[in-house]
Amino acid sequence: MAYLTVRDLSLGYDSHEIAGGLNFTVEPGDYLCVVGENGSGKTTLMKTLLHLRAPIGGEIRIGDGLLPNEIGYLPQQTVVQKDFPASVREVVLSGCTAGMGLRPFFTKEEKRRAAEAMERMGVAALAGRCYRDLSGGQQQRVLLARALCATRKILLLDEPVSGLDPVVTAELYELIGELNREGVTIIMVSHDVAAAVRYASHILHIGETVFFGTRDEYRNSAIGRRFLSQRGEAEP
Ligand code: ADP
Repeated sequence: MAYLTVRDLSLGYDSHEIAGGLNFTVEPGDYLCVVGENGSGKTTLMKTLLHLRAPIGGEIRIGDGLLPNEIGYLPQQTVVQKDFPASVREVVLSGCTAGMGLRPFFTKEEKRRAAEAMERMGVAALAGRCYRDLSGGQQQRVLLARALCATRKILLLDEPVSGLDPVVTAELYELIGELNREGVTIIMVSHDVAAAVRYASHILHIGETVFFGTRDEYRNSAIGRRFLSQRGEAEP
């Protein structure tokens, strides 16, 4: 059974529908990119998958042993988050809080998990530094380490490369690709459709036309060809 099975999902605010007719599945090990025009509802979909918003209609079933608190989330960064006055270690450890209940301290096991996640993301040497003093790329690595503290099953990433320069962007895409190859299931919102068809196994395109399929099916679809060529990424 799939981690996520989405049927006839309709999204929006105050019963005003922003996107509808969404049908897709996410299997363990998949790398799903969610693409579409600005304002088409990609971030709203992430929040709905996380149960932070109720859907207007349809259903989201989770399965294959996945628990709701095993979905890691890397939200789109706001200016306030970029300025967060905590150390890298504290930011990463805060990813462990889902399992903490009312306990006001971290266990040895949680500290070990945080150290391992920082190591994996190449930010262990920055552990004592203040988060807000880091570069944008370093901050994203720290947030990835934070999300990995919560889970290694599935990560939802909302525009993880926005505002980063091309070199740092490529490094981050590689890192996310490696995590996927290690078995972490990825759902990533991206405005960069070229990167989406390069890295993802599956594409969900939302907007007036909805598409879900493998990246090759997307490349060969009418909507995929149109969207790629609009963005100057026409496929040969
Ligand atoms: P995308 O991520 O594809 O750019 P969003 O999911 O952020 O799109 O937004 C989809 C639409 O929902 C936009 O028209 C946006 O203005 C609207 N929207 C976003 N957040 C809210 C909110 N809290 N209340 C009402 N409308 C919202």
